[in-house]
Parts: sequence; C-alpha cells; structure tokens
Amino acid sequence: MTATLVICGPPTSNGDLHVGHVAGPYVGADVHVRYLRAVGREAVFASCTDDSQTYVVTAAARLGTTPPELVAESSALIPETFAAMGIELDGFSPTDDGYRSTVYDYVTRLYDKGKFKLRKVRLPYGERSQQFLVEGFIGGDCPTCLADSRGGFCEGCGHPIDFDGLIEPYSILDRGEEISYREAEILVFPMEEYRERLIAFYEAKSSNWRPHALALMKEVLAKPLPDYPITYPVSWGLPSPFPETPGQTLNAWVEGMPASIYCTAWAQRNTGAGSPENDTAWRAENAARPVVFMGFDPLYVWGLVHVAELMAHEGRYALTDTLLVNEFYELESEKFSTSKGHVVWARDLVAEVPRDIVRFYMCLSAPEHARTNFSRATLTKVAGERLIGPWNELAATLAKLTAEVGDSQPLPVSPQTPSRIAAMIARFTPCYELETFSLSRAADLIVQYTDRLRQHAERVRTQNLDRETLSARLGEVFLQLRALISCSAPILIDLAARAGTEVRLTPGDFEVSTTEAFPVPVLDLSMPSTDSR
Ligand SMILES: [Zn+2]
Repeated sequence: MTATLVICGPPTSNGDLHVGHVAGPYVGADVHVRYLRAVGREAVFASCTDDSQTYVVTAAARLGTTPPELVAESSALIPETFAAMGIELDGFSPTDDGYRSTVYDYVTRLYDKGKFKLRKVRLPYGERSQQFLVEGFIGGDCPTCLADSRGGFCEGCGHPIDFDGLIEPYSILDRGEEISYREAEILVFPMEEYRERLIAFYEAKSSNWRPHALALMKEVLAKPLPDYPITYPVSWGLPSPFPETPGQTLNAWVEGMPASIYCTAWAQRNTGAGSPENDTAWRAENAARPVVFMGFDPLYVWGLVHVAELMAHEGRYALTDTLLVNEFYELESEKFSTSKGHVVWARDLVAEVPRDIVRFYMCLSAPEHARTNFSRATLTKVAGERLIGPWNELAATLAKLTAEVGDSQPLPVSPQTPSRIAAMIARFTPCYELETFSLSRAADLIVQYTDRLRQHAERVRTQNLDRETLSARLGEVFLQLRALISCSAPILIDLAARAGTEVRLTPGDFEVSTTEAFPVPVLDLSMPSTDSR
C-alpha cells in the first residue's frame, strides 16, 4: 500500500513555537494523519528542527545566548509544544550523526553526478564584521515587491532574491555597518536546467494545489530561474564537504529534503516499522506519497528548488506529491513578532484553554487562502457561542431525556438514521482529503451539525412523548451524535477520547438497528479539573 509521508515543515530552532507557527501547517498535518489512519490508509508523520539556519544566529544574538545553546533549548521545547497541542508525530528526529550522514549522502550524490556548478557570485559583505552577509544576516527591499526582506527569498511575495539583489541592504546584526559587495566562489544548483520538467510538474498539479501556491510558481517560472546557492562562505551550518569550497558551509535550506527523509526513517524506527536505509521510504520504487504541510514564505525553496533536486537525483526518489501551503496567521491583526514581543506561545495558550478548543478555533480561523487573525477575545466569543454553548445545551438535554427513558436498554434506531449519517460523513470527508483539504470548513461543519442535533433534541424534549417513542427518537439523536463526534475526532481529540469514540468515517459503521445512550462530555473554555480529562 502506498504510504503517505507527512512532513511538518521543520521548525527553525530559534525558540519555541507560537500560535502563528502551529495554526495551519502543524495542526493541519496532525488532522490529516488522524483522518488517513481512520480510513485505513498508511501514514508516517515526522518532523525535526532546522538548526543550520542563519536565523538561529540572529535570534541568539537578540536573546543574548549562543546559537548552540539556543538550538539545544529550542530542540527540547518544540516537541513538548507539539505534544501539548496534541500534534502526535510518529517521530521528531534529532540532529545527530544519522541526520548529518543523510544530508551529506544526499548532496554528495548530486555533486558526484555533476549537478552543481562552481560559480563566482557577488555577495553583500559587512565591512565592520568582515563577513559575508547572506539569508537571515542581510536585510533590504525585495526587488520584486519592494517589501522589507531577508536574503534568499522574500517572505512577502515568495520570489527568489538573487545574491546581490536586495535593494539598500543592511546588516541584521549590526544595523549601522557599512555594506559592500565582494566576490566569492560557491557551488550553485543551476535551476534553469530543470525549467521544462518543473513546468510539466506544475501543470500536473494545477487542479489540486492551493491557488496562491500555483500562482507563485507560475510567476516565478515566467522569469529565468536564478542559480540556487548550495554553499555559502559563512561559518554557521554544516561544513561543506566539497573540495572546491573549503571553509564554507552548506546553505541551510539545502538540508530541507534530506532532513525530511531522515525524520521519516526516524519515525518509522520509532513505530517499529524499520527502514533498512535512511532514505528507503522516499525511494521511488516504494511509491510513497510525500506531503509537506508548510507556510507560504519558503515556498520557492520547497516548491521549486527541492523538487528540482529530487529530479536531479534521476529517479532515486519520489517527487513531492503535495505542498499544503498556508498563508500568514496574524495576532490581533498584526504580524506575530517574537522580537517585538507580539506573540502568544502555543504552550501558554493550551495551559489556559483546553487544547480541543484551541484546535477548534485554529481550524475555524485557519489561514487557508488569505491571512487570518488570532484574537483571544474572538476565540472566547466564537468558541463559546458557536460550539461550547450549543454543545453543552445538547449534552444537558440528552442527559435529561436519558433519565426519563430510564434503564440502559439499547435504543432503537430508525432506518433513515444511517442515511442522515452518510450525508454528514460525505460533508466531512472532503475537508480531510488533500485535494480539497479545509480545516475551516471541517470546524464549521462541527458547529453546523452540533446545532442541528441541539435543535433536534430540543424538539424531542418539548413533545411529551411516550416512553417507547422517546426511546426511538433518542436512538436517532445518539447515533448521529456518535457519528458527529467521530467525524470531529481529528480536531476534537480529547472530546472523542472522553466519549470513547474513535475516528470513523465509513458510513457502514453506523448501519445498525440499535444504539446506546452515553454521557455526553461537556466542553469548557477554561481548563477542566484533572480527573475529567
Ligand atoms: Zn517580495
């Protein structure tokens, strides 16, 4: 069976994860994996930290620590935050010898096949620090959209930025430093050679990737593709293994694909599935389906550079099947900014609000096609009014009616009930499938069907039915509620566990003639006492 290899875009180890990191890609990946398993499809869900980024160095300087200390601290915090959010990875691999050898094997194979070229490029240079300034070390205006950007690519418009392309460059670590340009010989990956194959790749994706991602690919492919730097003359990162570039390091972004390959193998070993070599799961002959859940900003790298690298491996690896790309999530209508302290840490939020409610609100407001906003006041209002209120009213009505019916006889289920459930499952299923994936629609369906059952139960309550009819009507409501909890279970993980319901999205599972009443767990905006969780 084809396994889906689900990768959470590796978080940079420059601090813990805030709400903007977690909403969208990480919750989305978790929901998708829970769905795949519910319908009997194999999945491996993995991630790891991205330690070699220049952003680790700039964040360490801002925080008054050292890059290795920041990496160690972040690498401990990030998996804890995933766990606190209920994002259940099969593996979160460390940056160990296996990681490094996977990266070196990956780039050396390309080098040995002659896929890289030595090129003299013109790079920004800090006259005071006597250092080349690339990627997160250099700021300036993007030549494509004119927004303030870092080197490499623009996180606003997504376009690549050539080596000396930033307008009015400045040093991130030393704002007043005089910037000049110096030449350096580095290894590059000639992206232009892959143009035709990339165009064909994107034509094949045109019906099932999100439109903004496809639009960027079209814009970028309409212009010459700049050579992509494989090595940089900077000191932070994995040392370049190539004789032409002594003293240089690998561009951190080049680690992205081998990092994904390694964390997949780590996750497989973690779950006892085994993997003879670190790259076995990603090998083309295993016909796996690699899927990356990510933010829009590094789409150029993941969508073009990494795909071209996989092509350059000449059939060794499966090509990325889907990049599920999210837009920016804002905090109180401003960009999240760790450096400005405009941030809500995911772990702090789930210490105060039950994670099901956090996951529900992140899904409802997920930045799927445009930037969306996180606001604590809106979370309280929307979750309270649209989910918790109607849900608890339904729970209370059902508790009352169950008491009226009395002993715990099985409740009869009308022949029409399974077809109502099939209709509900048919609405949820596309929200969890990649081609039509939508956390926001799934969360909205939870609200819609909760309110429908609340009204249904309320009508039953006010009808003064005899005991037999009441049993039959309750049977309809309870079975549909069981199905609703099941459909919601990829998002409301603790509710499903408290109700003893697994994720089931096969209508046949609900073709029964009787069902049981059950105590409906209530939802709360603040943390419940420990014994009810
Ligand atoms: Zn731009």
